[in-house]
Amino acid sequence: MLYGGIEAGGTKFVCAVCNEDLAILERVSIPTTVPEETMAHVFAFFDQFDLVTIGVGSFGPIDVNPKSATFGYVTSTPKLAWANYDFVGSLKRRYNIPVAWTTDVNAAAYGELKKGAAKGKDSCIYLTVGTGIGGGAVVNGQILSGYGHPEMGHILVRRHPNDHYEGKCPYHKDCLEGLAAGPAIEARSGKKGQDLVPEDDAWKLEAFYLAQALVDYTLVLAPEIIILGGGVMKQKQLFPLIQQSFKKQIAAYVATPSLEEYIVPCALEDNAGITGCLLLALEEKSGK
Ligand code: ADP
Ligand code: ZN
Repeated sequence: MLYGGIEAGGTKFVCAVCNEDLAILERVSIPTTVPEETMAHVFAFFDQFDLVTIGVGSFGPIDVNPKSATFGYVTSTPKLAWANYDFVGSLKRRYNIPVAWTTDVNAAAYGELKKGAAKGKDSCIYLTVGTGIGGGAVVNGQILSGYGHPEMGHILVRRHPNDHYEGKCPYHKDCLEGLAAGPAIEARSGKKGQDLVPEDDAWKLEAFYLAQALVDYTLVLAPEIIILGGGVMKQKQLFPLIQQSFKKQIAAYVATPSLEEYIVPCALEDNAGITGCLLLALEEKSGK
């Protein structure tokens, strides 16, 4: 039997087909342009297979509330062509099979839990730090969602006293994403993150904000492990800086695993998201 996965990112869609052992048989990458064009390529790819289910991890915000009239839609995304796009509906209309539906970061969290850095655990948080900041969580083996999905990148943070940058989030200005995503690093220093040396003070500031967010997630969810991915986290010197700042900011109030084992890089790298999507497809009840 064959299962489909779509990691729908803001820059590209990764589509893959696997068998019941999660072995990927075919995989394509499609640029994210407008729904008509991108989805035409998605359909052309999946039309070649007789799929049982599809799992989707999408950029957002998206509607994941099964009680909502717009469940399965991309909602108020800044990628305007995709706003109010009925993603799940369009797949169901074409293939008439069950569709698992969650955020790209939730899918990555799930992939890392089952096959990556959180293997053997029941809970984890996955945070990506790139053009934006987004986080997903698995709690008791289940992807966490309620009325909607978490938006961990937009939590409000306490400013560093020496940081006078106004912040880049169009909604909140100086939320976590506004102060610590790649574009904020670039706006503050005049250089892209990849062009800053590892010793640059920008990384200490970055670690201060990310550690603060991880303290908050720890206090709210107490996950077994926190996994960090995305372009900015390619700066490996950030890990010890974040661990040190985390230790200082949480101030020994709650116990955590040793910080080297608690705040870790993603293990599946660029495959975390699509792995999670395929796992969700495998677990989705087959309509056949
Ligand atoms: P996206 O979030 O768009 O999927 P990325 O995760 O690569 O893609 O994030 C892009 C952002 O991360 C940009 O702001 C870029 O400057 C920054 N970035 C990418 N690579 C690195 C790197 N090696 N070091 C620091 N910053 C990086
Ligand atoms: Zn924000």
